This record gives sequence, C-alpha cells and structure tokens, in this order.
Amino acid sequence: MKGGKLIIFSAPSGSGKTTIVRHLLAQEDLNLAFSISATSRPRRGKEKHGEHYYFMTLSEFKKHIKNEDFLEWEEVYRDNFYGTLKKEVERLWAEGKHVIFDIDVVGGLRIKKKFPDQTLAVFVKPPSVDELKIRLKKRSTESDEKINMRIAKASVELATAPQFDKIIKNYDLDVALQEAHDLVAEFLQEH
Ligand code: 5GP
Repeated sequence: MKGGKLIIFSAPSGSGKTTIVRHLLAQEDLNLAFSISATSRPRRGKEKHGEHYYFMTLSEFKKHIKNEDFLEWEEVYRDNFYGTLKKEVERLWAEGKHVIFDIDVVGGLRIKKKFPDQTLAVFVKPPSVDELKIRLKKRSTESDEKINMRIAKASVELATAPQFDKIIKNYDLDVALQEAHDLVAEFLQEH
C-alpha cells in the first residue's frame, strides 16, 4: 500500500476530536476524506452504515481479522471491535484524497508505525478527566456503565500523548480548530 497522506486524530472519547475532524473535512483546501471504520458496536442515534461506520456483527468482524483485511483493528471496549479496512484507505487514495482518521490511540500509533513518513499523528487533549465526564454525560447517548468505561480508559490514553507527532489542547474549541487546520496544512505542504 502506498499513495497519499494519512492524518490521524486520536484522543479519549469526549475530547472533541470528532468535531475537529468534521471541521477539517469541510476545508476544501486540505483535500481530505474520512476513513470510515468498521465496528461491531451497535449503532447510536442517527448513525448511518457506510457514513459513520461500516456496522457489522462480531462474527463478520472476526472473519475480516482472519482474512487480514484490516490495516489495524482494536477491541476498544469489551466486544466492541473497531478497525480500518485496507480497502477503505485504498478507495480514498484512488480518489486522489488524503485520508483522515478518527481512531483510538493504539490504532493511531499503529498506523503511524506502518507509514511513518506519510502520517501525521495528532493527539487531542481534553482540559481534564472531570471535563470529559461532563461532556460524555451531556452527550447522553450511552448508559452510565458505558460512560464509566470510557472514563477509565481515558487516563490510560492520556499517558500516550507524548508518542504522537503533535498535541492539540482542546480547551477552547475555536482555537483548537484553527490550530488543527494549520498543523494539517503545514504537514501536507511539507511532505
Ligand atoms: P465510538 O464508539 O465513540 O464511535 O468510538 C470509540 C472509540 O473507537 C473512539 O476512540 C474512536 O476513535 C475509536 N475508533 C473508531 N474507529 C476506529 C478504528 O478503525 N480503529 C481503532 N483502533 N479505533 C477506532
């Protein structure tokens, strides 16, 4: 596999990385396309198959693992598998796009390791774990148990921040959006 650039945004759930990724996708000068991940987790709210995720059953997901169809995959939460299909990245590169990922820290670092020169790996840092808790509760798309699971994982994820190429502090969203745009534009120009 080779082709365009890979832009990774990783962060604990609730840090605002999805908002940042959406913002960047809307900037035409960056020529980015979103890598739609496969997942075995159930659909939330208005999520659509083939837009937010490729939703599949656990056994379908495991079949893809066996076939080595994934660039990376992770059991992000128990029985909730997430992964990037090699075909997805190839599809977007064939369209002449650079690929942007909204994935967990382990997956993000794994892709960076596979494609060190083509990849910009950015970690989005939330103001604090307490603030994360507030944001996840406000989103109220999940049960308390699921939220607590995400919070517990956040502390472990925060410790991986120094392994990323860049860290963006998402304390003020407008500032974070501008910073994200500038980082990506600069990377695309230089590489
Ligand atoms: P959510 O269930 O909130 O959509 O996602 C949960 C976590 O899984 C988030 O941190 C999200 O970035 C991560 N994730 C989504 N897609 C992938 C993927 O393809 N690979 C990996 N490793 N993580 C992913």
